[in-house]
Amino acid sequence: MTTPVPPVIEAVAIDGPASSGKSTLAREVAKRLGYAFVDTGSLYRAVALALDRAGAGDLSESDPRFIGALAACSVAIEPTPSGVRVDLSGEDVTPLLRDERLGRIASRVSAFPSVRKALFALQRTLAAAGRIVMDGRDIGTVILPEARLKIFLVADPEVRAKRRLLDLERNGQQASLEIVLADILQRDERDRSRKIAPLVPAFDALVLDTSHMTVSEAVDWIVDRYR
Ligand code: C5P
Repeated sequence: MTTPVPPVIEAVAIDGPASSGKSTLAREVAKRLGYAFVDTGSLYRAVALALDRAGAGDLSESDPRFIGALAACSVAIEPTPSGVRVDLSGEDVTPLLRDERLGRIASRVSAFPSVRKALFALQRTLAAAGRIVMDGRDIGTVILPEARLKIFLVADPEVRAKRRLLDLERNGQQASLEIVLADILQRDERDRSRKIAPLVPAFDALVLDTSHMTVSEAVDWIVDRYR
């Protein structure tokens, strides 16, 4: 008897903790391969925005107002060469999503099974079509386990905090290194310890430590392995 070979999807799955460089690398790798690029964190942030607007961002998953707000929110995405355009009930909310506050809400509500379930089909449909680079926390384990290449990024927390601080400053937001570092560590802990789709490397993922690598070195490393 032969063991069935799982189908392979021509795709790259990139997972890793907060500010490990996932989206920057995924975007560049997608450009090099001529593939679509989807940053799945932006989907969780769009749900966070919808919940926040409905005043439900800090409620529990079983609260009827939370359930109502989640049911009413409709997220759609359009991959573009520079990333995904995210629509919330028909409104392009892409420019609003990088806000730190939404990141915090997204980090909390992404542990709720109802939220993950609400975003599963959208991600899976995009993933299954192939020729895509997707980044997130559970791409190699849950969304796209058939990806031909799975990468799990790691980097020293201090390096990640400095990167995030730079990003925030570029977006005109102020913060201190201590606060950003504490926030990153809290998010990592939450993502790693949640019961559903925790942040863990897929058994066959390649681990890449980007602490001392430039973006182009890391992109070359990933593209070489894919090819
Ligand atoms: O990557 P980003 O910081 O934009 O993601 C926001 C939050 O969404 C993360 O803190 C994480 O908790 C959650 N997330 C997730 N699974 C994904 C992508 C993001 O749980 N695939």
